[in-house]
Amino acid sequence: MNIFSEVHTIREQSRAWKRQGLRVGFVPTMGYLHEGHLSLIECALQHSDRVIVSIFVNPTQFAPDEDLDRYPRDHEGDIKKITDAGAAACFLPPVEALYPEGAQTFVEVKELTRALCGVERPTHFRGVATVVAKLFHIVLPDVAVFGKKDYQQLVTIQRMVRDLLMEVEVIGAPIVREEDGLAMSSRNVYLSDVQREDARALNQALKLARQAFASGERAPAALLDVVRGQLSGREHLRPGYVELRDSFALHTAQEPLDGTERVFVSAYLGQTRLIDNAPLSGECSLPES
Ligand code: AMP
Repeated sequence: MNIFSEVHTIREQSRAWKRQGLRVGFVPTMGYLHEGHLSLIECALQHSDRVIVSIFVNPTQFAPDEDLDRYPRDHEGDIKKITDAGAAACFLPPVEALYPEGAQTFVEVKELTRALCGVERPTHFRGVATVVAKLFHIVLPDVAVFGKKDYQQLVTIQRMVRDLLMEVEVIGAPIVREEDGLAMSSRNVYLSDVQREDARALNQALKLARQAFASGERAPAALLDVVRGQLSGREHLRPGYVELRDSFALHTAQEPLDGTERVFVSAYLGQTRLIDNAPLSGECSLPES
């Protein structure tokens, strides 16, 4: 596994593979890797011949009051995990490599990023779309894999690729969870024991929504009450958004629900913000118990 930090060397590597007729897969991350990230590498390996993983804590997707400076980092551990997972290269650029001095160009996906996380983090998706566009131009992937854990991010990137006529296939991979159902996240490391206990409610709330739909509930308001009920009354958890939206354009779900909609939740455990989502029926990686 080769490690690259310069734009021109990783791009040249990707071009060399393409000249050999190999398909290049790409998994962008902010590092501090867990099994969720590794599942994306596995998925990319199934769809390509050489997988490139990037590790870059992107400053433009953090608001000034967010955790950019204390975001967890472990390059040594990450490189070992990426190597063991079978990736061919790791791209680890310094900030100046992706944001040349005086950079003033940004990519904005408008409507899709206004709801959900876009309300709580108004500048977040502009930073995400911009850095992913830059990374795609550098890595030149044939296929890129994103987790459904950040579902709004996935559909935002798919829309950007479509709107900007980029030649990359964007695949969404299932959410990987801890045994008790909490979606894996690099930020889970911030949680105290009592916060970690309350954080289970996110996944439990999604499960209750799916159960209510399976039992015949078709009214969005009633379903959302079930979700809110599960999140409320917890000492260490403050609910953020609780919403039902369609899975493609993220429009607010209409009655009667047909099961293709998704439930989206966010919550604050102290300073730590967690998100989760699940479809009302079908495709899902929620543990059964
Ligand atoms: P991050 O390092 O948090 O920016 O995440 C990098 C990629 O990993 C994104 O596409 C995320 O959606 C994905 N990811 C993060 N956590 C999970 C998880 N628990 N299951 C699946 N994918 C995940």
